[in-house]
Amino acid sequence: MAAERIHLLQHPATAPADATLAIHHGESFADGTGTVMPPIYATSTFAHGNPGGFDYTRSGNPNFRILEGVLASVERCDHATVFGSGVSAITAIASTLQQGDLVLCEENLYGCTVRLFEQVFAKFGVRTEWVDFTDPSALTAIVERQPAMVWLESPTNPLLKVIDLEAVCSAARGAEVPVVVDNTFATALVQRPLQLGATLSLTSTTKYINGHSDALGGAVCTDAPDWHARMVFAQKALGLMPSPFDCWLITRGIKTLPLRLRQQIENAAVLANHLAEHPQVDWVRYPHRADHPQQAVALRQMQGGGAIVTIGLNTSREQAYAVCKALRWFTMAESLGGVESLICHPATMTHAAVSPEVKSKLGITDGLIRLSVGCEDVADLITDLDQALATLS
Ligand SMILES: *Cc1c(COP(=O)(O)O)cnc(C)c1O
Repeated sequence: MAAERIHLLQHPATAPADATLAIHHGESFADGTGTVMPPIYATSTFAHGNPGGFDYTRSGNPNFRILEGVLASVERCDHATVFGSGVSAITAIASTLQQGDLVLCEENLYGCTVRLFEQVFAKFGVRTEWVDFTDPSALTAIVERQPAMVWLESPTNPLLKVIDLEAVCSAARGAEVPVVVDNTFATALVQRPLQLGATLSLTSTTKYINGHSDALGGAVCTDAPDWHARMVFAQKALGLMPSPFDCWLITRGIKTLPLRLRQQIENAAVLANHLAEHPQVDWVRYPHRADHPQQAVALRQMQGGGAIVTIGLNTSREQAYAVCKALRWFTMAESLGGVESLICHPATMTHAAVSPEVKSKLGITDGLIRLSVGCEDVADLITDLDQALATLS
Protein backbone atom coordinates (compact mmCIF):
# COMPACT_ATOMS: atom_id res chain seq x y z
CA MET A 1 0.00 0.00 0.00
CA ALA A 2 2.80 2.36 0.90
CA ALA A 3 4.42 1.74 -2.47
CA GLU A 4 1.42 3.11 -4.35
CA ARG A 5 1.85 6.40 -2.60
CA ILE A 6 5.45 6.93 -3.53
CA HIS A 7 5.55 9.79 -5.95
CA LEU A 8 9.07 9.52 -7.18
CA LEU A 9 9.48 5.93 -8.09
CA GLN A 10 7.58 4.61 -11.04
CA HIS A 11 8.17 0.98 -10.02
CA PRO A 12 5.72 0.21 -7.21
CA ALA A 13 7.16 -3.28 -6.75
CA THR A 14 10.19 -1.86 -4.97
CA ALA A 15 9.43 0.54 -2.15
CA PRO A 16 12.54 2.65 -1.67
CA ALA A 17 13.81 3.46 1.81
CA ASP A 18 13.77 6.87 3.47
CA ALA A 19 17.43 7.60 2.73
CA THR A 20 16.77 7.17 -1.00
CA LEU A 21 13.53 9.15 -1.04
CA ALA A 22 15.06 12.05 0.88
CA ILE A 23 17.80 12.49 -1.72
CA HIS A 24 15.93 12.13 -5.01
CA HIS A 25 13.28 14.49 -6.23
CA GLY A 26 11.03 14.12 -9.25
CA GLU A 27 10.85 16.81 -11.91
CA SER A 28 13.39 19.62 -11.79
CA PHE A 29 11.36 21.55 -14.39
CA ALA A 30 14.70 22.58 -15.94
CA ASP A 31 14.27 20.69 -19.19
CA GLY A 32 17.28 20.19 -21.38
CA THR A 33 19.98 21.03 -18.83
CA GLY A 34 20.54 17.76 -16.97
CA THR A 35 20.83 19.77 -13.77
CA VAL A 36 21.32 17.53 -10.73
CA MET A 37 20.22 20.17 -8.23
CA PRO A 38 17.12 22.14 -9.18
CA PRO A 39 17.63 25.81 -9.99
CA ILE A 40 16.12 28.48 -7.74
CA TYR A 41 13.05 29.82 -9.53
CA ALA A 42 13.31 33.42 -8.43
CA THR A 43 10.24 34.69 -10.21
CA SER A 44 7.01 36.21 -9.01
CA THR A 45 5.02 35.30 -12.11
CA PHE A 46 4.87 32.86 -15.04
CA ALA A 47 3.79 33.16 -18.68
CA HIS A 48 0.18 32.11 -19.05
CA GLY A 49 -0.45 28.60 -20.36
CA ASN A 50 2.93 27.05 -19.40
CA PRO A 51 3.12 23.23 -19.20
CA GLY A 52 3.81 23.27 -15.42
CA GLY A 53 0.51 25.06 -14.77
CA PHE A 54 2.22 27.83 -12.79
CA ASP A 55 0.73 31.30 -12.67
CA TYR A 56 1.99 33.37 -9.72
CA THR A 57 4.42 32.33 -6.96
CA ARG A 58 1.97 32.98 -4.11
CA SER A 59 -0.02 30.04 -5.47
CA GLY A 60 2.84 27.81 -6.55
CA ASN A 61 6.42 27.69 -7.77
CA PRO A 62 8.62 24.84 -9.05
CA ASN A 63 10.72 25.00 -5.85
CA PHE A 64 7.57 24.52 -3.73
CA ARG A 65 6.49 21.60 -5.87
CA ILE A 66 9.89 19.89 -5.74
CA LEU A 67 10.00 20.14 -1.93
CA GLU A 68 6.36 19.05 -1.62
CA GLY A 69 7.18 15.95 -3.67
CA VAL A 70 10.11 14.99 -1.44
CA LEU A 71 8.17 15.65 1.78
CA ALA A 72 5.20 13.57 0.61
CA SER A 73 7.42 10.67 -0.38
CA VAL A 74 9.35 10.69 2.92
CA GLU A 75 6.06 10.93 4.85
CA ARG A 76 4.63 8.25 2.49
CA CYS A 77 1.48 10.19 1.92
CA ASP A 78 -0.41 11.58 -1.04
CA HIS A 79 -0.02 15.31 -0.50
CA ALA A 80 2.29 17.85 1.12
CA THR A 81 1.81 21.62 1.09
CA VAL A 82 4.67 23.93 2.04
CA PHE A 83 4.43 27.18 3.98
CA GLY A 84 6.72 30.00 5.02
CA SER A 85 7.19 28.69 8.58
CA GLY A 86 5.80 26.15 11.02
CA VAL A 87 3.55 28.90 12.38
CA SER A 88 2.23 29.54 8.83
CA ALA A 89 1.37 25.84 8.56
CA ILE A 90 -0.48 26.03 11.90
CA THR A 91 -2.28 29.18 10.70
CA ALA A 92 -3.30 27.41 7.48
CA ILE A 93 -4.94 24.58 9.42
CA ALA A 94 -6.56 26.87 12.01
CA SER A 95 -7.94 29.09 9.22
CA THR A 96 -10.25 26.23 8.17
CA LEU A 97 -12.17 26.56 11.47
CA GLN A 98 -15.46 28.43 11.83
CA GLN A 99 -16.74 30.77 14.49
CA GLY A 100 -17.94 28.70 17.46
CA ASP A 101 -15.82 25.66 16.61
CA LEU A 102 -14.12 23.91 19.50
CA VAL A 103 -10.55 22.60 19.26
CA LEU A 104 -9.59 20.01 21.83
CA CYS A 105 -5.89 20.68 22.37
CA GLU A 106 -3.17 18.77 24.16
CA GLU A 107 -2.32 20.96 27.17
CA ASN A 108 1.39 21.01 26.31
CA LEU A 109 1.28 22.42 22.78
CA TYR A 110 4.13 24.48 21.39
CA GLY A 111 3.97 28.04 22.78
CA CYS A 112 3.34 29.73 19.41
CA THR A 113 0.38 27.41 18.75
CA VAL A 114 -1.10 28.36 22.11
CA ARG A 115 -0.54 32.07 21.41
CA LEU A 116 -2.17 31.77 17.98
CA PHE A 117 -5.29 30.13 19.39
CA GLU A 118 -5.58 32.35 22.47
CA GLN A 119 -4.58 35.72 21.03
CA VAL A 120 -5.64 35.48 17.37
CA PHE A 121 -8.21 32.80 16.58
CA ALA A 122 -10.10 33.39 19.85
CA LYS A 123 -11.00 36.82 18.45
CA PHE A 124 -12.79 35.07 15.59
CA GLY A 125 -14.77 32.88 17.96
CA VAL A 126 -12.67 29.70 17.79
CA ARG A 127 -12.79 28.02 21.20
CA THR A 128 -10.10 25.82 22.75
CA GLU A 129 -10.05 23.36 25.63
CA TRP A 130 -6.78 22.03 26.96
CA VAL A 131 -6.55 18.43 28.07
CA ASP A 132 -3.87 15.92 29.02
CA PHE A 133 -3.97 13.35 26.22
CA THR A 134 -2.01 10.81 28.26
CA ASP A 135 -5.09 10.62 30.50
CA PRO A 136 -7.66 8.08 29.20
CA SER A 137 -10.48 10.53 30.09
CA ALA A 138 -9.31 12.62 27.11
CA LEU A 139 -10.66 9.89 24.82
CA THR A 140 -14.09 10.19 26.41
CA ALA A 141 -13.84 13.97 26.07
CA ILE A 142 -13.53 13.61 22.27
CA VAL A 143 -16.84 11.78 22.16
CA GLU A 144 -18.59 13.98 24.71
CA ARG A 145 -17.35 17.41 23.63
CA GLN A 146 -17.65 16.74 19.86
CA PRO A 147 -14.84 19.15 18.92
CA ALA A 148 -14.28 20.32 15.34
CA MET A 149 -10.66 19.23 15.64
CA VAL A 150 -8.21 17.50 17.96
CA TRP A 151 -4.73 19.05 18.09
CA LEU A 152 -1.82 16.94 19.36
CA GLU A 153 1.94 17.15 19.60
CA SER A 154 4.25 14.29 20.56
CA PRO A 155 6.81 14.37 22.02
CA THR A 156 5.89 17.70 23.62
CA ASN A 157 8.11 20.67 24.37
CA PRO A 158 10.09 20.75 26.62
CA LEU A 159 9.08 17.78 28.80
CA LEU A 160 8.86 15.20 26.00
CA LYS A 161 5.51 13.81 27.02
CA VAL A 162 4.55 11.04 24.60
CA ILE A 163 0.93 10.66 23.50
CA ASP A 164 -0.47 7.38 22.20
CA LEU A 165 -1.35 8.73 18.75
CA GLU A 166 -2.98 5.53 17.54
CA ALA A 167 -5.35 5.41 20.55
CA VAL A 168 -6.36 9.07 20.25
CA CYS A 169 -6.76 8.91 16.45
CA SER A 170 -8.88 5.80 16.73
CA ALA A 171 -11.23 7.46 19.26
CA ALA A 172 -11.39 10.56 17.05
CA ARG A 173 -12.11 8.55 13.93
CA GLY A 174 -15.04 6.91 15.73
CA ALA A 175 -16.39 10.39 16.50
CA GLU A 176 -15.52 11.64 12.97
CA VAL A 177 -13.21 14.32 14.34
CA PRO A 178 -10.10 15.25 12.31
CA VAL A 179 -6.79 15.00 14.17
CA VAL A 180 -3.80 17.30 13.66
CA VAL A 181 -0.40 16.10 14.89
CA ASP A 182 2.51 18.51 15.18
CA ASN A 183 5.33 16.09 14.30
CA THR A 184 8.21 18.59 14.45
CA PHE A 185 10.08 16.95 17.35
CA ALA A 186 9.96 13.49 15.77
CA THR A 187 9.88 13.92 11.95
CA ALA A 188 8.44 11.27 9.64
CA LEU A 189 11.58 9.19 10.08
CA VAL A 190 10.83 8.66 13.76
CA GLN A 191 7.03 8.47 13.63
CA ARG A 192 4.40 8.68 10.90
CA PRO A 193 1.21 10.24 12.32
CA LEU A 194 -0.86 9.60 9.17
CA GLN A 195 -0.18 5.88 9.41
CA LEU A 196 -1.24 6.03 13.05
CA GLY A 197 -4.58 7.53 11.96
CA ALA A 198 -4.05 11.30 11.98
CA THR A 199 -5.74 13.46 9.33
CA LEU A 200 -2.96 16.05 9.11
CA SER A 201 0.72 15.80 10.00
CA LEU A 202 2.29 19.20 10.44
CA THR A 203 6.01 19.98 10.67
CA SER A 204 8.15 23.02 11.15
CA THR A 205 10.72 22.22 8.45
CA THR A 206 12.88 24.91 10.08
CA LYS A 207 14.03 22.26 12.54
CA TYR A 208 15.22 18.72 11.68
CA ILE A 209 13.99 18.65 8.07
CA ASN A 210 16.23 21.51 6.98
CA GLY A 211 18.68 20.81 9.78
CA HIS A 212 21.15 23.64 9.21
CA SER A 213 19.52 26.55 11.05
CA ASP A 214 19.55 28.69 7.92
CA ALA A 215 15.93 28.76 6.69
CA LEU A 216 12.36 28.81 7.98
CA GLY A 217 9.59 26.63 6.64
CA GLY A 218 6.54 24.56 7.45
CA ALA A 219 4.59 21.77 5.81
CA VAL A 220 1.29 19.93 6.16
CA CYS A 221 1.03 16.33 4.94
CA THR A 222 -2.23 14.48 4.35
CA ASP A 223 -3.87 11.64 2.42
CA ALA A 224 -7.23 13.45 2.30
CA PRO A 225 -7.84 15.30 -1.00
CA ASP A 226 -10.31 17.73 0.61
CA TRP A 227 -7.78 18.70 3.29
CA HIS A 228 -5.09 19.07 0.66
CA ALA A 229 -7.35 21.46 -1.28
CA ARG A 230 -7.87 23.52 1.90
CA MET A 231 -4.11 23.73 2.48
CA VAL A 232 -3.43 24.83 -1.12
CA PHE A 233 -6.18 27.44 -0.74
CA ALA A 234 -4.67 28.74 2.54
CA GLN A 235 -1.18 28.90 1.02
CA LYS A 236 -2.45 31.26 -1.67
CA ALA A 237 -5.40 33.05 -0.08
CA LEU A 238 -3.66 33.87 3.23
CA GLY A 239 -0.26 34.53 1.66
CA LEU A 240 1.39 31.84 3.79
CA MET A 241 3.74 30.60 1.06
CA PRO A 242 7.50 30.17 1.57
CA SER A 243 10.19 31.72 -0.63
CA PRO A 244 11.62 29.69 -3.53
CA PHE A 245 15.10 30.11 -2.03
CA ASP A 246 14.08 28.72 1.37
CA CYS A 247 12.41 25.75 -0.36
CA TRP A 248 15.62 25.18 -2.28
CA LEU A 249 17.66 25.20 0.95
CA ILE A 250 15.20 22.80 2.64
CA THR A 251 15.26 20.51 -0.42
CA ARG A 252 19.03 20.42 -0.01
CA GLY A 253 18.85 19.99 3.76
CA ILE A 254 16.43 17.06 3.74
CA LYS A 255 18.84 15.00 1.63
CA THR A 256 20.96 14.36 4.72
CA LEU A 257 18.06 14.08 7.19
CA PRO A 258 18.35 10.29 7.59
CA LEU A 259 22.12 10.53 8.15
CA ARG A 260 21.95 13.50 10.49
CA LEU A 261 19.06 12.20 12.51
CA ARG A 262 20.66 8.79 13.01
CA GLN A 263 23.75 10.46 14.47
CA GLN A 264 21.75 12.94 16.53
CA ILE A 265 19.55 10.22 18.03
CA GLU A 266 22.60 8.10 18.83
CA ASN A 267 24.32 11.06 20.50
CA ALA A 268 21.15 11.98 22.42
CA ALA A 269 20.69 8.47 23.80
CA VAL A 270 24.33 8.40 24.98
CA LEU A 271 24.01 11.85 26.59
CA ALA A 272 20.73 10.96 28.29
CA ASN A 273 22.31 7.90 29.90
CA HIS A 274 25.43 9.82 30.86
CA LEU A 275 23.48 12.68 32.43
CA ALA A 276 21.22 10.28 34.33
CA GLU A 277 24.31 9.06 36.20
CA HIS A 278 25.63 12.56 36.85
CA PRO A 279 25.54 13.61 40.54
CA GLN A 280 24.51 17.19 39.68
CA VAL A 281 21.55 16.08 37.58
CA ASP A 282 18.27 15.55 39.40
CA TRP A 283 16.35 13.83 36.60
CA VAL A 284 16.55 13.10 32.88
CA ARG A 285 13.65 12.86 30.44
CA TYR A 286 14.22 10.92 27.21
CA PRO A 287 11.40 8.96 25.49
CA HIS A 288 13.17 5.60 25.15
CA ARG A 289 14.58 5.47 28.68
CA ALA A 290 13.03 3.08 31.18
CA ASP A 291 12.33 5.98 33.59
CA HIS A 292 10.21 7.86 31.00
CA PRO A 293 6.54 7.76 32.10
CA GLN A 294 5.34 6.76 28.60
CA GLN A 295 8.31 4.60 27.59
CA ALA A 296 6.07 1.73 26.42
CA VAL A 297 4.16 3.99 24.02
CA ALA A 298 7.41 5.63 22.87
CA LEU A 299 9.00 2.25 22.08
CA ARG A 300 5.94 1.21 20.08
CA GLN A 301 5.37 4.48 18.26
CA MET A 302 8.82 6.01 17.78
CA GLN A 303 11.75 4.61 15.83
CA GLY A 304 14.41 5.93 18.20
CA GLY A 305 13.94 8.29 21.11
CA GLY A 306 14.55 11.50 19.16
CA ALA A 307 17.38 13.96 19.65
CA ILE A 308 16.03 16.18 22.42
CA VAL A 309 17.02 15.48 26.01
CA THR A 310 15.52 17.42 28.91
CA ILE A 311 17.14 17.47 32.32
CA GLY A 312 16.38 18.94 35.71
CA LEU A 313 19.06 20.45 37.93
CA ASN A 314 18.39 21.02 41.59
CA THR A 315 19.59 24.61 41.39
CA SER A 316 18.40 28.18 41.26
CA ARG A 317 17.43 29.82 38.00
CA GLU A 318 20.71 31.77 37.98
CA GLN A 319 22.83 28.65 38.48
CA ALA A 320 21.03 26.76 35.72
CA TYR A 321 21.52 29.74 33.43
CA ALA A 322 25.23 29.85 34.34
CA VAL A 323 25.64 26.15 33.43
CA CYS A 324 24.13 26.84 29.98
CA LYS A 325 26.45 29.79 29.50
CA ALA A 326 29.52 27.77 30.55
CA LEU A 327 29.15 25.36 27.62
CA ARG A 328 31.42 25.55 24.62
CA TRP A 329 29.79 23.30 22.01
CA PHE A 330 26.17 23.95 22.94
CA THR A 331 25.00 27.39 21.87
CA MET A 332 22.39 28.83 24.19
CA ALA A 333 19.58 29.53 21.74
CA GLU A 334 15.95 28.87 20.95
CA SER A 335 15.08 26.42 18.15
CA LEU A 336 16.25 22.86 17.70
CA GLY A 337 17.03 20.17 15.19
CA GLY A 338 20.15 21.59 13.53
CA VAL A 339 23.50 19.84 13.21
CA GLU A 340 24.86 22.15 15.90
CA SER A 341 23.93 21.38 19.50
CA LEU A 342 21.80 23.99 21.22
CA ILE A 343 20.78 24.42 24.83
CA CYS A 344 17.69 26.20 26.10
CA HIS A 345 16.78 27.33 29.60
CA PRO A 346 12.98 27.70 29.28
CA ALA A 347 12.57 29.64 32.57
CA THR A 348 14.61 32.55 31.18
CA MET A 349 13.99 32.01 27.44
CA THR A 350 10.96 30.32 25.78
CA HIS A 351 8.76 30.39 28.89
CA ALA A 352 10.03 33.65 30.46
CA ALA A 353 6.66 35.38 29.96
CA VAL A 354 4.59 32.46 31.27
CA SER A 355 3.01 32.98 34.72
CA PRO A 356 4.46 31.02 37.68
CA GLU A 357 1.18 29.05 38.02
CA VAL A 358 1.18 27.92 34.39
CA LYS A 359 4.91 27.15 34.56
CA SER A 360 4.40 24.95 37.57
CA LYS A 361 1.41 23.25 35.88
CA LEU A 362 3.58 22.55 32.81
CA GLY A 363 6.46 21.35 35.00
CA ILE A 364 8.85 24.12 33.90
CA THR A 365 11.13 24.47 36.91
CA ASP A 366 14.00 26.93 37.33
CA GLY A 367 16.51 24.12 36.94
CA LEU A 368 15.00 22.65 33.76
CA ILE A 369 17.28 22.60 30.72
CA ARG A 370 16.49 21.34 27.20
CA LEU A 371 19.26 20.03 24.97
CA SER A 372 18.90 19.82 21.20
CA VAL A 373 21.65 17.35 20.44
CA GLY A 374 23.60 17.90 17.22
CA CYS A 375 26.03 15.89 15.12
CA GLU A 376 29.24 16.77 16.97
CA ASP A 377 31.40 13.98 18.38
CA VAL A 378 29.56 12.71 21.43
CA ALA A 379 32.75 12.47 23.54
CA ASP A 380 33.28 16.21 23.06
CA LEU A 381 29.69 16.91 24.07
CA ILE A 382 30.09 14.81 27.23
CA THR A 383 33.34 16.57 28.18
CA ASP A 384 31.67 19.91 27.64
CA LEU A 385 28.61 19.09 29.76
CA ASP A 386 30.80 17.66 32.52
CA GLN A 387 32.93 20.80 32.72
CA ALA A 388 29.86 23.07 32.76
CA LEU A 389 28.15 20.98 35.48
CA ALA A 390 31.37 20.99 37.49
CA THR A 391 30.99 24.75 37.92
CA LEU A 392 28.08 23.97 40.28
CA SER A 393 30.22 22.28 42.92
C1 LIG B 1 9.45 25.58 15.95
C2 LIG B 1 8.17 24.88 16.11
C3 LIG B 1 7.00 25.37 15.50
C4 LIG B 1 6.98 26.66 14.74
O1 LIG B 1 7.78 26.62 13.61
P1 LIG B 1 8.47 27.92 12.96
O2 LIG B 1 9.11 27.36 11.75
O3 LIG B 1 9.42 28.48 13.97
O4 LIG B 1 7.37 28.88 12.66
C5 LIG B 1 5.83 24.66 15.68
N1 LIG B 1 5.79 23.53 16.42
C6 LIG B 1 6.89 23.03 17.01
C7 LIG B 1 6.77 21.80 17.82
C8 LIG B 1 8.10 23.68 16.89
O5 LIG B 1 9.19 23.20 17.51
